[in-house]
Amino acid sequence: MNIHEYQAKQLFQTFDIPTPKGIKVETADEAVQVTKEIPGTAWVVKAQVHAGGRGKVGGVKVAKNIDEVKQFASDMLGTRLVTKQTGAEGLPIESVLIEETSAIKREFYISVLVDRASERVMFVSSIAGGMDIEAVAEETPEQIVSLTINPAAGLQPFQARQIAFDLSLQGTQIRALDKIMQGMYRLLLEKDASQIEINPLIETESGDLLALDAKINFDDNAVALHPEILELRDEGQEDEKENKAEQFDLNYITLDGSIGCMVNGAGLAMATMDLVKLKGGSPANFLDVGGGTTTEKVCEAFKLILSDNNVKAVLVNIFGGIVHCNVIAQGILTAVDQVHVKVPVVVRLEGTNAEKGRELLNNSDFGVVAADDLVSAAEQVVALAKEVA
Ligand code: GDP
Ligand code: MN
Repeated sequence: MNIHEYQAKQLFQTFDIPTPKGIKVETADEAVQVTKEIPGTAWVVKAQVHAGGRGKVGGVKVAKNIDEVKQFASDMLGTRLVTKQTGAEGLPIESVLIEETSAIKREFYISVLVDRASERVMFVSSIAGGMDIEAVAEETPEQIVSLTINPAAGLQPFQARQIAFDLSLQGTQIRALDKIMQGMYRLLLEKDASQIEINPLIETESGDLLALDAKINFDDNAVALHPEILELRDEGQEDEKENKAEQFDLNYITLDGSIGCMVNGAGLAMATMDLVKLKGGSPANFLDVGGGTTTEKVCEAFKLILSDNNVKAVLVNIFGGIVHCNVIAQGILTAVDQVHVKVPVVVRLEGTNAEKGRELLNNSDFGVVAADDLVSAAEQVVALAKEVA
């Protein structure tokens, strides 16, 4: 689960991580109002969306006076922001953060995350902050420093010092960084975050360290243990189809291709998507309908897939283990009928009663294509999607 920058910064404050003073607002008039409570004669207006890369596309603007605060806030609010991280549709800007400006001397990158490879908590830092960290990793990997934390010992002062030296920090800044890193570490553990990212962490002209940006990602499987975190959820920033899928206990992820996929089992779903790719197509989604597939679930799954306008053809790949293939075939036909499926549907059924299932599909009036095996199913659906497009 992701949260907004302004929420992450509020959490930062309770964990002793310094941030600029800022107030979140939902209208341009409010934006003007709150400038009275924020020191300075210029302010930063920041679009609150669950994505980074805002600076490059006008989602972060420095206003030189109150008129500009009003202008920028009203320009942003009610629109959608498209950044490198959002996909073409972008995310709705329903609030903006009005913040005091900071005199930036240097910009660093620092994050803490659960590293799967080392099975430990890991800090990643870079002297080349502010920009796209993926680009830094690719072009100048020597500028990225990481260290892992021994879970029994916790974050040690010498480790924070090591990073401080890498960032060429001096004097009291070293202890300030230690405090920030300790705060990040405690926050990660106490709230079950999977990643906390500060990009940029800045050194101000006066030598202070400040978290200018804040991103926190929480472990979805742990968030139920933290009601105060769950309260921060903003469903308006999440994928509507993915939330709908959650209601029906379907594992669904939106992708940007043209072939809708309905599969039972996550492994089979991955293999199906690979095969679609191999045959020159592109999946529109990942969808695992789960073990006990029912007609109702298949219907909901079809509705989800078809609510995506990019879908030009659907591939159903079901292995009938516990549920018999003839039952699944009947479910598919009922769903195709109820949901008024207009795009071509290719079905590959394997397992118990597969023959009977295929027969049912072949004898129906819906023009559902029953494929003999997975490879030919993938080839057929890719060809049909191209025809429709
Ligand atoms: P992101 O692009 O979504 O990661 O948003 P950030 O919060 O990181 O802001 C992008 C960039 O805007 C930062 O890297 C800074 O260079 C700049 N910026 C943000 N706040 C201020 C500020 O108070 N003063 C100045 N001069 N620049 C700022
Ligand atoms: Mn940033």
